[in-house]
Amino acid sequence: MKLKDKVLIVEDEQSIGNFMSTVLEANGFDTLRAATGAQARSLITSHCPDLIILDLGLPDMDGLEILREVRAWSSLPVIVVSARTHEHDKVRALDMGADDYVEKPFGTSELLARIRTAIRHTRTSVGNADLAQTGKYRIGALTIDYDKHHVLVDGEDTHLTLNEYKIVALLGKYAGKVLTYDYLIREIWGPMAKADNQILRVNMANIRRKIEKNPAAPQYIFTEIGVGYRMLGTE
Ligand code: CA
Repeated sequence: MKLKDKVLIVEDEQSIGNFMSTVLEANGFDTLRAATGAQARSLITSHCPDLIILDLGLPDMDGLEILREVRAWSSLPVIVVSARTHEHDKVRALDMGADDYVEKPFGTSELLARIRTAIRHTRTSVGNADLAQTGKYRIGALTIDYDKHHVLVDGEDTHLTLNEYKIVALLGKYAGKVLTYDYLIREIWGPMAKADNQILRVNMANIRRKIEKNPAAPQYIFTEIGVGYRMLGTE
């Protein structure tokens, strides 16, 4: 029998907590509940969850405080759930090491997809079994060939420049997960690069022109407005 993954739900709004726990239990997860930061702390140490769903607005502390504590000692996947619509909160959470975020109100399929992606990324470090085995990431008509450094659409080379390839390769490695603008800029242009999104935006426009059927309505790489980019995952 497959051991169930244990998800700690940190949420002070009982109806939302109940809803998440019902959905997760129905989809093969075990759940634990905490309504305060203090409860979350004690459950994290006593029960070693496989993943934490973390509300940022807790009655006794800022959820980011819990994230900071967890990241001090572990890479345990944390998905931030927040009603906050400010983009900088999402960016801050991601920069502090959150694996992803879901905005309230959220759909169940979205929540489940985010959880599966986060757990898979922690287990394998390369998020995709196909990629780990074949050196290729395939989604729809798109293939990223990590050995040959090529990106193909319908088997045809898309002639990406080196930086364009690096961007697509990185997004593909973390498919399903949002990568922030700052993270991408640091990874592609180095730690000294100016945190200027313009150059990234120009590259993305060129990438989309080369890989998307309709660059204005992308199928493969999505913009998370004010936050970063996310490549379509395999589920
Ligand atoms: Ca709350």
